[in-house]
Amino acid sequence: MASQVNPFESLQSQIDEAATYLDVSDDVIERLKHPERVLETNLTVELDDGSLERFKAFRSQFNGDRGPYKGGIRYHPDVSRDEVKALSGWMTYKTAIVDIPLGGGKGGIIVDPDDYSESELERLTRAFAKELTPLIGVDRDVPAPDVNTGQREMNWIKDTYETFENTTEPGVITGKAPDSGGSAGRVEATGRSTVIAAREAFDYLDKDLEGATVAVQGYGNAGWIAAKLIDEMGATVVAASDSSGGIYNPDGFDPVAAKEHKNETGSVVGYEEVEEEITNEDVLTLDVDLLIPAALENAIDGDLAADVEADVISEAANGPLTPDADAVLEDKDVFVIPDILANAGGVTVSYFEWVQNRQRFYWDEERVNEELEAIIVDAFDALVETYEEHDLENPRTAAYVVAIQRVADAFDEAGSFP
Ligand code: GLU
Repeated sequence: MASQVNPFESLQSQIDEAATYLDVSDDVIERLKHPERVLETNLTVELDDGSLERFKAFRSQFNGDRGPYKGGIRYHPDVSRDEVKALSGWMTYKTAIVDIPLGGGKGGIIVDPDDYSESELERLTRAFAKELTPLIGVDRDVPAPDVNTGQREMNWIKDTYETFENTTEPGVITGKAPDSGGSAGRVEATGRSTVIAAREAFDYLDKDLEGATVAVQGYGNAGWIAAKLIDEMGATVVAASDSSGGIYNPDGFDPVAAKEHKNETGSVVGYEEVEEEITNEDVLTLDVDLLIPAALENAIDGDLAADVEADVISEAANGPLTPDADAVLEDKDVFVIPDILANAGGVTVSYFEWVQNRQRFYWDEERVNEELEAIIVDAFDALVETYEEHDLENPRTAAYVVAIQRVADAFDEAGSFP
């Protein structure tokens, strides 16, 4: 993490900022700033050499007022209780801004998956699935992939759950492989919403996406797909980075070939079409039309924000800007499409996957992409309407105003219990 800002404090300050524009009581806002419950568990896993290792893991169920808790499971050495709480809160407002009938949750294991074999990771994942089984369920809490997890882990969790419950219930988890009940278009969905939102923002700002220059920080699933799709829309990807460093060519390069290079060597660094190798941080301060942070939280803090030269930022990552960075970028008139909208394609297609699993009837990719497009465009329009109505300076605040109101309304309509 570039900055040590506590992401849970960032979430709470984003909610406080939006609350000033909302007609929601302070005590309801207080509810909406804290998770309903958090599981903290220690998993004991046998390694390949026969020794045992303990791993700490979390699942935060932040809010279920609008539907089952929903959100990914991340494997990373920097996972912490507060990070998982923050991510589960962001999920709550993400499902609300795109108006899908789900709540917010998130899980994580403190682990660097690169240090373990596939069979060790399978035992670790199944150990976590065993702890999760009483908490999750198709109408209760539906996990999904996040940083360093994907179809493989989702399939293991589904299988563990179904074995314990003696049933078939593919909708208990999303982001599965297609043969295990996964949806067409799910892998591409996060990057797809990031670029749909960017396209809408350029249109709103009367800027031309054709020929616009783009820098992408992070070349995992979200970042590289965003690079590929924005290139297909006519923009020029000039820079990309991953944890090993960055590449830059002011004339642009082929984002798919850069990904192939990363697949072969482990990094975009060394990709031959580039003119210059730059640092991961340099990618964030290039003079480009669009910046896509697609790595982890806190990539841009207040100091770095002072050097950001992009006109528009579309947040593919969760929480890439600290609240200080937000304030600086607001002063500089940078239009920031917030994570809860920009990267909401992932959870939106997870929702489609869940719907298909429940109906046991599957859609083709064209239908998935069309429905996703409609949802992201509607959410962007709702953001803009509130942005203009309250004469806001920061699109993030507008997104939170819309999202918090929806969650608060659902809580209010439920009446009081107990
Ligand atoms: N981990 C993704 C996110 O942060 C997807 C969550 C989901 O599909 O439930 O939005």
